[in-house]
This record gives sequence, structure tokens and C-alpha cells, in this order.
Amino acid sequence: MVEMVVIGGGPAGMAAALQCSRSGMEAVLFEKGELGGLLREANLVENYLGFPGGLPGAELCSRFSEQLRRQGVEVRREEVLSLDHDGERFVIRTAEGEERAEMAIMATGTVPSRPGTGLAADGELVFDSVLPLADWRGMSIAVLGGGDAAYDYALRLSAANTVTIVSRSCPRSLPLLRKRAEGSPSVSILDRAALTGTRRTGGRLSIDLMHNGSPLALETDALLLAVGRDPADGLLRGPLRDRSESLIKDGVFYIAGDVVNGHRRQAAIAAADGIRAAMGARETRER
Ligand SMILES: Cc1cc2nc3c(=O)[nH]c(=O)nc-3n(C[C@H](O)[C@H](O)[C@H](O)COP(=O)(O)OP(=O)(O)OC[C@H]3O[C@@H](n4cnc5c(N)ncnc54)[C@H](O)[C@@H]3O)c2cc1C
Repeated sequence: MVEMVVIGGGPAGMAAALQCSRSGMEAVLFEKGELGGLLREANLVENYLGFPGGLPGAELCSRFSEQLRRQGVEVRREEVLSLDHDGERFVIRTAEGEERAEMAIMATGTVPSRPGTGLAADGELVFDSVLPLADWRGMSIAVLGGGDAAYDYALRLSAANTVTIVSRSCPRSLPLLRKRAEGSPSVSILDRAALTGTRRTGGRLSIDLMHNGSPLALETDALLLAVGRDPADGLLRGPLRDRSESLIKDGVFYIAGDVVNGHRRQAAIAAADGIRAAMGARETRER
């Protein structure tokens, strides 16, 4: 039995656990993957205060981890499979067993969206994370999407590969990212190109597009998807389904970060949400 469980070790969950611990609460953080969450994907984070030259996402995450380690936050590398409340306590189930807690903060982030059409027979050549491609060299990679993430992925991969950004609409990314991509000899941009299918051709991937009304086939080594993200809120559809609202009202349950932030998905917002949740929990404890 612990005082607080934090589910998710991205910026929201890490900030929440840190703040809980600083408030003298006994907090346990559950993370199913690596600490840092989605921010580990970021090529260069330039809007997190304190780092005037920007910092690669992975490096910022290492600093967050070090901060948690120094503060003595307990991290359990386990996936929370279900979250329930028995009327008195939260019941947290993982493959390893069960934990009980007085309060909970859910900071589970997002999962990648999939394009509605066109992804048949693609197998291992289609990715929704840049991390498996991080060590690729000399490859030709297509990035599908027109937002900040697509451009960030392309800039990262273009250091050692050639990259084509394929977007069905006009660019939606920050102008500064677009400008960098346009200025890179390793990046090509195909706007108004809609994915119609993918085919394996030998060890490569042929991407079928409709570009300006005409069919176009793009031969690549891989396709990286960056077509949006959906909230990872599955735990709310489990046993907690009918109780989450009243638990939030009682000040014992909090939801923080990208999982509830719609399209305003930024690390600083997530971290601030985590701190806000932890401060709310402290107020509940002192009531
Ligand atoms: C390419 C890219 C570039 C970006 N660049 C920037 C940038 O420059 N600046 C910026 O501010 N933001 C940037 N972001 C956005 C930033 O990464 C997110 O806003 C931030 O990571 C959200 O934090 P979070 O803690 O809410 O969620 P996440 O970072 O998604 O963390 C959620 C964590 O919860 C874990 N989890 C989920 N379910 C469970 C479960 N059941 N049990 C245990 N663990 C679970 C996941 O494994 C994950 O680690 C970028 C994102 C991308 C993809």
C-alpha cells in the first residue's frame, strides 16, 4: 500500500512523481517502457526553458531521470494493466501483482494514430516511432504527415539518410521547422500527396500516392508514420469507467499531460500538469 501511484513516466508523470516526493508523499511511478515517454523521440527541444541552445529530447529525458533518481522516487518498470477503486483505495494491477494506493495520477500520454487507408502488406518496413530508425545510415525514408512531429522526424533522420516528407495537405508544421527542412539537401517535401497503398518490392517498400491528381509511386526503405496521436486512456474504460469523475471531484484522482491535452501536446505543458496534479493531491491530504 502506498500513498500515491503515478502511471506513466513521461514529462507529466515524472514531474508529478517528483513534486509528490518533494511534498513528502510516498509516490511510486509505474512506467511500461523507458522513462521520458514520447519526448525521447524529439530531435531538438527548443521551447523548454533553461536550455538556450535547445537539447535533444533523449538528453532532456536523461536529466529528468537523474532528477528523479536524486530525489529518490521509486520507479517500477511495469505496465499497469488495470486501475480500479474499491471504495477506499485504488487497486493497480500489473503482470507482477497488485498495488494499492490512496491516490492516483494517470499520465499515460498518447498512442500513434494510423492512416485510414493504404497500409496493407507492409510488415516491418512501416514504423510509428523514430527510435528503431535512429541508427539507420544511407537509407531512403518517407515520413507521412505534415505536422511538427513529421518535420522533427525528417530533420533527425536526414542527418544520415535521404528523407521525403509526404503530406496530403498544406504544411501545418512550425514555419521554422519547414524552413530547416526546405534548406536541407537530404529532405524533399511532397505536399498534397495522399497515400493510396503500400507494396513490398523485394526488401523495399513502394508507396503509392495520388499527387496533384496523378498516381505516383515512391520507392523507399521504410515509411515512418506521423499522422497524429490518440489519447492512451484505456485505463479509464476499464473498471474505473463509472467512478473516475467522482474520484476526480474528491481530489484523489488526477489525469495529467498529453492524455487530456488534445492537440496542445508539449512537454512543458505536460510537466506543469503533473506538478498541478501533485499539488492538488497534497491539498487533499492536508484537508
Ligand atoms: C517527434 C516529436 C517531437 C516533439 N518535440 C517537442 C518539443 O520540441 N517540445 C515539446 O515541448 N514537446 C515536444 N514533443 C511533445 C512531447 O514529447 C509530449 O508533449 C510529452 O512527451 C507528453 O508528456 P506526457 O507525460 O503527457 O506523455 P508521454 O510522454 O507520452 O508519456 C506517457 C508515458 O506513459 C507510459 N504509459 C502509458 N500507459 C501506461 C501503462 N498502462 N502503464 C505504465 N506506463 C504507461 C508510456 O510508456 C509513456 O512513457 C514532441 C513529440 C514528438 C513525437
